[in-house]
Amino acid sequence: MKKIFIILGMCASLLPLFSHAQTVSTTSPLSATSTVQHIAHIPILIYHSVRPYYPGITNLVKEFTVPPDIFDDQMKYLRDNGFTVVTFDDISTYFQNGTPLPEKPVMITLDDGWENQYVYAYPILKKYKYIGIFYVYPNAIGAKHFLKWSELKEMIAGNMVIADHTQTHPELPKITDSALLKKEISGSKAILEKELGISVKDFAYPFGAYNDQSIQTVIESGYRTARTVHTGVKADSSAPYTIDGIIITGDFNRFVSLVNK
Ligand SMILES: [Zn+2]
Repeated sequence: MKKIFIILGMCASLLPLFSHAQTVSTTSPLSATSTVQHIAHIPILIYHSVRPYYPGITNLVKEFTVPPDIFDDQMKYLRDNGFTVVTFDDISTYFQNGTPLPEKPVMITLDDGWENQYVYAYPILKKYKYIGIFYVYPNAIGAKHFLKWSELKEMIAGNMVIADHTQTHPELPKITDSALLKKEISGSKAILEKELGISVKDFAYPFGAYNDQSIQTVIESGYRTARTVHTGVKADSSAPYTIDGIIITGDFNRFVSLVNK
């Protein structure tokens, strides 16, 4: 029976904390180019909607919404407290040859392709000259409340990174048909690359849910990383297809505590 991992909720205390980057001399099973394991301490922030709260907003929606003024405060906090925003290019170089990451690295990712990310988050990211990594899924692009292709192109021109989040945002462990799984993971990459004229290298599992089969399909599709929602703060070169990420809410104090874990 295949192992199934579905990670939900905030279980930070269950995960080991790494206060400094570590280099461990062991074999790296998933990284063909390196035999040295590199583990970086890096909070990878996950945003969903960035928009004002509205009357009648449910607690569930609120958990996945950060108002623009708080998003701005969070970015300002990073700038004022010595954090450096990096990308998967930096992580990838670090994984391959141990090239040190800057002091206090942090990554900003935004999931699901909500149009409010273009309207509210993108201008703030530009203001701080930060790069955001936008995980989008082609089926939603152009639909009501979701990003348009033209907006994605504009954000690419503005130095943002577009990454893949499957074609239809399913729970991947529920898909047993390998052709369908390939369509979700590899097909979506082909669509994004064709429509946007870019190379798509990084992937995120919808709902943070994956199993051995989905990891294998991600590898076979040519991705270099895959992000989960493990709520840890480490990136480990021996596990580039289960990279931690932390869902960020509008609670500023929680944000401060998470980025300083
Ligand atoms: Zn998602």
